[in-house]
Amino acid sequence: MSTLNVQSSCGDENEQGTLTVKSALKNMLGAVSAKKATEQINLTDAVDRVLAQAITSPVNVPSHCNSAVDGYAIMQADLPAEEQVLSFNIAGRVVAGHPYKGELKKGECIQIMTGAQMPELADTVIMQEHVEVHGNAIRIDARHSARQNVRQAGEDIQQGQIILEPGIKLTPPQIGLIASLGISEISVTTALTVAVFSTGDEVLSISDAPREGCIYDSNRYSMMAALKKIGCQVLDMGIIPDDPEQLRQAFNVAAKNADAIFTSGGVSVGEADYTKQVLSETGSINFWKVAMKPGRPVAFGNIGDATFFGLPGNPVAVMVTFYQFALPCLQKMMGLSTPLISPIIKARCTHSIRKIAGRTEFQRGILSKGEDGEWEVCTAGKQGSGILRSMSDANAFIILEHERSSITEGDWVSVQVFSVLF
Ligand code: AMP
Ligand code: MG
Repeated sequence: MSTLNVQSSCGDENEQGTLTVKSALKNMLGAVSAKKATEQINLTDAVDRVLAQAITSPVNVPSHCNSAVDGYAIMQADLPAEEQVLSFNIAGRVVAGHPYKGELKKGECIQIMTGAQMPELADTVIMQEHVEVHGNAIRIDARHSARQNVRQAGEDIQQGQIILEPGIKLTPPQIGLIASLGISEISVTTALTVAVFSTGDEVLSISDAPREGCIYDSNRYSMMAALKKIGCQVLDMGIIPDDPEQLRQAFNVAAKNADAIFTSGGVSVGEADYTKQVLSETGSINFWKVAMKPGRPVAFGNIGDATFFGLPGNPVAVMVTFYQFALPCLQKMMGLSTPLISPIIKARCTHSIRKIAGRTEFQRGILSKGEDGEWEVCTAGKQGSGILRSMSDANAFIILEHERSSITEGDWVSVQVFSVLF
């Protein structure tokens, strides 16, 4: 019987020379480091930026003891004993932002509003709902305890305390926290500049007229959107035809101007693709076959000082490899001390899925609550690596682990909810 000497492909049961998803990511993360540059910006522009300094509190928060409720401030020594009901003259009134000038005397109370500074010698507040008012006096009973309803100075944050460490992506409550210290400017890492281009003679820009045998570029637009969403400065370098000289030039320009370069297509075995050949000459690039579907061919390395991500050509493979590989690497490069990853939960699969062990699959799924209140996931449609529609309809990846084989209806599967990026 005669046999052909053929190359391995993603359809093979156990392909030679492949990396697992885990080891590909580990290699990539090991090769990138945080960009050093920082800049000083206004706190009002700082949401989603990566903090580059520790925030140390210059003040106590709250800065003064204040009332947590609307009520009457008294001295704890005046609290009624068991079974006792006592009467207090209302000596004055204090509201937030206007400290009480006088001093509280024994047997008196001061009417106080929430957030108002506690008058001198007062240390306990009786809620207005818990008193009886008789003209200019109140009566209180014995149900109260010393120092109740008072927020102590510094009980939230003490002066000199470090409240935020560098390397976090700033959230709205953290912006509020920094504002509560009276800090108006902070140091953040400078945004990454990322060059993006597509390769291939068949690829058209969205402003081009349709041409026979050609397709509109989707990868450059989906990648640029993803990069913008995570705060990168994007350099749109357009479409580079399958021509060695133009590709070489594009790689060199990108490497001089960007921290990272993203391309799609041209990294698998294809006769007309010069990308691989030119990349091998221009940079220090690894061409990996990753045991995953979609996304098998991935190129990664550097051209000059820029990190290079050569994602596959198929539009879904681009999104999967961006989410699984590029996103954690970019987060590390932008100075995040811990990558922000989407939660992976277990859900019941509503249908069977054919799968061979030996590669990780990232199917596009729709996660929802089943009638029994448990999470369930169904397919978002046709799963071909060029079918962007199901990726666009999905809200989660169904992750079928490396060793796993076919799934039957009702099996529990891992589901990664789109949250950090999509
Ligand atoms: P390649 O790896 O270059 O052979 O590309 C694999 C598949 O992805 C082919 O069907 C290409 O036409 C398609 N493809 C490559 N680049 C893009 C792009 N920028 N947008 C949409 N599809 C693309
Ligand atoms: Mg191509």
